[in-house]
Amino acid sequence: MENSNFDRNELAKFESIAEKWWDKSSEFKPLHDINPLRANYIDEHAQVSGKKVIDVGCGGGILSEAMAEKGAFVTGIDMGEAPLGVARLHASNSELNIEYLHSTAEDLAKERAQTYDVVCCLEMLEHVPDPASVVKACHDLVKPGGYVFFSTINRNPKAYALAIIGAEYILNLLPRGTHDYNKLIKPSELSKAARDAGLMVKELKGMTFNPITDTYKLGKNVDVNYLMYCQRPEQND
Ligand code: SAH
Repeated sequence: MENSNFDRNELAKFESIAEKWWDKSSEFKPLHDINPLRANYIDEHAQVSGKKVIDVGCGGGILSEAMAEKGAFVTGIDMGEAPLGVARLHASNSELNIEYLHSTAEDLAKERAQTYDVVCCLEMLEHVPDPASVVKACHDLVKPGGYVFFSTINRNPKAYALAIIGAEYILNLLPRGTHDYNKLIKPSELSKAARDAGLMVKELKGMTFNPITDTYKLGKNVDVNYLMYCQRPEQND
């Protein structure tokens, strides 16, 4: 039976605005703005050139294309049809050869266990019913010794104020309702899910937004947005 760890209401949020995915002044501006930071962070730790990379919850393919441009062999998966359509068209216009599949991470992990050198799952876990199940699938997809990168939003009053009230209601960076407070994930919860899945957590990195300069940077502060970098042990246990 096919895995059902996805939420149609969450997917609908992205389906309805997918055609704007590559418009850098649209709702997707924040993803475009953070993309060089996260793509470089991944490349610094995992040297993606010539490697097999999978982008879980790839959407319109902003990270997938950046990985392909850095020389990786990229597979992107998403449960949204419209984002995948946009991703396929954009890659072909950019003359990038990227494999895009309509699948959950859990389903693909059954067919392609231990296939990828690098697994990326960015800004997606806060949209699924059971994030720990996706974390486990990411572990299963990566080769022993390979790297897994997650990013999501912390859950605390400051994250509520900045990522939901600030970004959705004051600055209008994201459509209202994009993020549901109860689905946000604390770094401690993500670390536990990663360890329970058999991954070693190597680093937690904060991502902060300065609304005055309209810029993002990576640093120590994980109060709101953060990245987590993990490694699958070489030894199978
Ligand atoms: N990772 C991309 C897009 C983030 S938007 C980036 O950071 O640039 C979140 C994406 O997750 C949407 O495209 C949505 O369709 C997808 N998504 C949500 N639930 C999913 C699931 N269970 N499996 C696969 N993709 C999912």
